[in-house]
Amino acid sequence: MSAQILDGQKTARDIRAEISQRVAALKTARGVTPRLAAVLVGDNPASEAYVGMKEKACGWVGIESETHRLPDTATQEEVESLIHRLNADPRVHGILIQHPLPRHLDETRALSLLAPDKDVDGISRASLGALITGEEAFISCTPLGIIELLDRYQIPIEGKRAVVVGRSIILGKPVALLLLNRHATVTICHSRTRDLPSVIREADILVAAVGRAEMITGAMIKPGAVVIDAGYNRVAGRRGDVGDVHFESAREVAAWITPVPGGVGPMTIAMLLQNTLLAAENSLRADVPTDR
Ligand code: NDP
Repeated sequence: MSAQILDGQKTARDIRAEISQRVAALKTARGVTPRLAAVLVGDNPASEAYVGMKEKACGWVGIESETHRLPDTATQEEVESLIHRLNADPRVHGILIQHPLPRHLDETRALSLLAPDKDVDGISRASLGALITGEEAFISCTPLGIIELLDRYQIPIEGKRAVVVGRSIILGKPVALLLLNRHATVTICHSRTRDLPSVIREADILVAAVGRAEMITGAMIKPGAVVIDAGYNRVAGRRGDVGDVHFESAREVAAWITPVPGGVGPMTIAMLLQNTLLAAENSLRADVPTDR
C-alpha cells in the first residue's frame, strides 16, 4: 500500500485563486485593498525568508504588504510602540509578528497587544482564548491550514482518534483544540510522554509538530492512518527541509500523507492571505473608517 498525497501545494494554489477573485471584488466594490503589515525583529535568516515568502504570496493575490524591520537590539518599548501604531493605522488590516522575537524581548506580552481584529496569525491571548470559548476570532494559520487541507480532501474528523505530537502555542495546542472542536478524540504528546510509539499507533489522524527530523517512522503508524507532517527541519548534508515523519516508511502504511515540502507549509501561507482578506472584509462590516 502506498498512501495518497495530501497536496498542500495544489490546494493552496486553488485557495489563492479564490482569494484573488475576492480581493479584486473588494477593490472594485468598495475601493479597499487588503494590507498586511509584517514585523521582523533581528536578523534571523529563517524569519527573513518566511517574511519574504509571505510578501511574495501577498503579491500573487493582490494583497498589499509592508515589512517593518527592527534591529536585534530593539527594546520592548520600541516593539510595543510599533504594534500600537499598526493597530491604529486604518490602512493596515492584518498584522503579523514574525516568531521568534529575540530572547531579550517579552514575546507573550508583545503579542497580547495585537488588536484582535488585526491578529491574522491568531496568536494573541484573545484569539487563542476564543478557541476554547468558541467565540469568533482569527485562528492560527498552520493549525487552520491543516484542518482546511483535511476538509478539502473530505477526510472525516468527527469520532476519529487524533494524536498531536507537540504542544506549542502556535501549533500543537491550537491544532489539538481545532480537532477537538470538530469532535475528534484528541491526545496531545510532548517530550515527557511515555512510550510515544504506542500512543502514536492509536492515531487515525496523526499530526506531527515536533521539530525533529524524521522522528516518526512507518513502524509507529497505524495502517490506514492520515498523517499530517508540519515539521520543517534543516539537516546537515541534505538539501531542503525534512519533516518530522520519515516519509518513505510512513507512506507504506498510511492512507493519506502530507509531503515536506509541499504539504502544510503552503497551506499556512494561504491561510494568512485568507485571514488578511477576512480582516479587510470585517473592517468594512464594522464600518471602521478608512482613509481611501
Ligand atoms: P516547538 O519547539 O515550539 O515545540 C515542539 C514540541 O515538540 C514541544 O511541545 C516539545 O515538547 C515536543 N517535543 C520535542 N521533542 C519531543 C520528543 N522527543 N517527543 C515528543 N515530543 C517532543 O516547535 P513548533 O511547534 O514551533 O514547531 C514544530 C515543527 O513545526 C518545527 O519543525 C517547525 O519548523 C514546524 N513549523 C511549521 C510551520 C509550517 O508552516 N509548516 C509553522 C510553524 C512551525 P515539550 O513541550 O515537552 O518541550
